[in-house]
Amino acid sequence: MLDKFLRHIAQTSDAPMGLEVSHAEGPFIFTKDGKRFVDFISGIAVSSLGHRHPKVVEAIHQQVDKHLHVMVYGEFVQQPQVDFAELLTTQLPEKLEQVYLVNSGTEATEGALKLAKKYTGRSKLIGFKNSYHGDTHGSLSVTGRDVYRDPYLPLLPDVHFLKFNTFENLDLIDEKTAAVIMEPIQGEGGIIPAEKEWLQEIRNRCDEAGALLIFDEIQSGFGRTGKLFAFEEYEVVPDILCMAKAMGGGMPIGGFVSSKEIFQSFKYDPPLNHVTTFGGHPVSAAAAHANLKELLSGNYMQRAKEIEQIIKEKLQGKGIMEVRGKGAMLGLQLESWELTKNVVEDCFQRGILLGWTLHSNTLVRLAPPLIIEDELLDEVLEFILEAIGRHS
Ligand code: PMP
Repeated sequence: MLDKFLRHIAQTSDAPMGLEVSHAEGPFIFTKDGKRFVDFISGIAVSSLGHRHPKVVEAIHQQVDKHLHVMVYGEFVQQPQVDFAELLTTQLPEKLEQVYLVNSGTEATEGALKLAKKYTGRSKLIGFKNSYHGDTHGSLSVTGRDVYRDPYLPLLPDVHFLKFNTFENLDLIDEKTAAVIMEPIQGEGGIIPAEKEWLQEIRNRCDEAGALLIFDEIQSGFGRTGKLFAFEEYEVVPDILCMAKAMGGGMPIGGFVSSKEIFQSFKYDPPLNHVTTFGGHPVSAAAAHANLKELLSGNYMQRAKEIEQIIKEKLQGKGIMEVRGKGAMLGLQLESWELTKNVVEDCFQRGILLGWTLHSNTLVRLAPPLIIEDELLDEVLEFILEAIGRHS
C-alpha cells in the first residue's frame, strides 16, 4: 500500500510519516501491521475528544440516514447547521452572534478577510511575523513567514507584518486598515501565547482606527487551551472569530463568526458575496453540534488545564529549556534541532506521535486529546524524559 500511496497520492514531503492506518479509537491510532500509536498531537489539534467519540459517530450516522448535501450554503434551512450555530453563538459574547460555515481553516480565514474588506471598504491588512493562517492565497498573504510566501509572490498587496508581543509600530494600524489578523496563541510559530496587555492594546488601536480585529482560533479553539476559545482569558473580544480543526470532532468544517451588522455587508453588492457549495455540510454540522454539546457538558476544558499542570510539573526544567503554551496546546523548547529530531523519532518508534511546528525545528509540539487518562499521560511523559536524557 505504501508504494501505491507514494505513486498515486500527490506528495508534499520527501519523508512522509507513512503510517498505514487501520483504525483509530480514543487516544489511539492502530496501523495495518498491528501497532498501536498514542496520538499525542490529535491529528494536529483536531480530535480533541479522541478519535471516533461515540456521540459524534452517532450524530453522523443519524444525519447520513436523513440527508447529505442538498443545496449550496445559505439557501435551505438545514437543522444540523441551525442547531450548531445556535449552540455556538449562545456561548460567545453578544456581538459574535452569527456564524458563516465553511469547510476548512483556510477558508474561514479567506472569508474573514473578505468580510473585513467588504465591511470597512478598506484593503490594508496587518498580520504578524511567524503567524500561520492557512495555505490558500489570501491566507498565505497574511501568514508571516517568508519561506512559505516567497515562491508564491506576488500575494495580496498592502499587507504589513508586526512583531508578535511587541508594542513597536502599532501606529501601522491606521484609518486605511481593514483588519488586523492574529492568533491569540501562535501555533505553527512555536506555541507562543500573546501577552494580555499587548492584546488589549491591539484591540484599542483597532477601535481607534476603525479596523476590525480578527482572531484565528483555528488551532486554539474548542477547549484546547482550557477555555472554549483562548480569547476568553484575555478580556478582549474580536470582531471576527475564525475556527475549524477540532470543530467537527474529526469531520471537515470551519466557520467565521461575527455580528449581524458586519455580516450584513455580505448580502449586497453583489448578493451572494461568498459562495461555498459544501460549507457547513450537514453531516459535518451534525458532528460539530454533537462535538460541541459533549465539550460543554463534560469536564474537558478543566481537563485541558489539568493536562497543562501535569505536563509542566513533570517536564519543566528536565533538560527542556521551556515548556510553554496553555491547556493542552503546549510546546517543549529544546536546545537543538538534533535533540528535537531524536526525541520525536524515538517516541515514534515507541508508538507515540509527537509533532513539529511549521516555523520551528527546536520545538516539540504536544496536543494530546482531552480524554487522555493520567496513566497514559504519565507513560508518555516518562518516555519523553527518557528520550531527552538519552540524547542530551
Ligand atoms: N490557522 C491556524 C492557526 C492553523 O493552525 C491552521 C492549520 N494548521 C490553519 C489556519 C489552516 O487550517 P486548514 O488546514 O484547515 O486550512
